[in-house]
Amino acid sequence: MATVETVGGRIDVDELGLTLIHEHFFSSDEAVTAQWPHVRDYDREFQLAVETAQAVKSHGVKTVVEPTAMLLGRDVRASQRLAQESGLQIIVCTGVYTYDHLPQFLLNRSEDFIADLFVHDIEQGIQGTDIKAAFLKCAADEAGVNERVEKVHRAAARASVRTGAPIMAHSRPASDTGGRQVEIFLEEGVAPEKIQIAHTGDTDDLDYIQRLLDQGVYIGLDRYGIDLFLPTPQRNATTLELLGRGHVERMFLSQDFDVPIANGLDWYPPEVVEELQAAGAATDWSMTFLFESVIPTLKEGGMTDEQLNTMMVENPKRWLGV
Ligand SMILES: [Zn+2]
Repeated sequence: MATVETVGGRIDVDELGLTLIHEHFFSSDEAVTAQWPHVRDYDREFQLAVETAQAVKSHGVKTVVEPTAMLLGRDVRASQRLAQESGLQIIVCTGVYTYDHLPQFLLNRSEDFIADLFVHDIEQGIQGTDIKAAFLKCAADEAGVNERVEKVHRAAARASVRTGAPIMAHSRPASDTGGRQVEIFLEEGVAPEKIQIAHTGDTDDLDYIQRLLDQGVYIGLDRYGIDLFLPTPQRNATTLELLGRGHVERMFLSQDFDVPIANGLDWYPPEVVEELQAAGAATDWSMTFLFESVIPTLKEGGMTDEQLNTMMVENPKRWLGV
């Protein structure tokens, strides 16, 4: 039986149940947190995370996978406390969330040195705890797969090859990053079924998506509710078309909902969140939008219960299990 690490310890993959593959309960700017801790409202952040965890649990979700890596404010003690208080299973990662910049410490060290850091989190534990990372996270965005981004991808790939842990790569279809990201992982010897290209659902360019699927990797249709990148009707049409083409075993549904961002606690101040909402950037965005609206619509469009189960129960088991 394959197993997977959670913040509450190692479990059989059969215990994962209904799983959201890409959501954020916690995110913050680490440098601001270290230098000006007074601007953070830890109690409010935690309370909002608990309320959100309870909301997803009410829809039958058993597990949330949280790709909050370095530079996104990973705090596994908070994640563990959230899991204990809410009863939700939470899975955490190692890796670096950067679109371009790397701190000097990593810029001037090798891919293998960085891979060692990642392996430490997978095998020993994160941030001085015995909580272990179940997967690796890296990112490519508007800056493309430049030298610094490639370095993080190669480090993640080498850590994956050494440990068997899967990789989730934030991508940006509008910058055509997916193909190059997959290419790097395959060059490093990562098996395609260990690779997930997150945010593939930000495009409805089926040729682009098909090229990724042809390589055997998983894709994340994981930003439901973020209309800024692609409105829900187009996301749904793409999902149904891919199901019709028989790709159910490589698809994930999620929302990339971020509790602090949505509540004006991190990236944007509250007044900017309001402006963005008024402009229709993410009107329906929540960690339960899938259950309240998307899944019923997909079912009307012909998605079967079995297909839903494959995407939200079986695929997480296969991708995460080691
Ligand atoms: Zn994310």
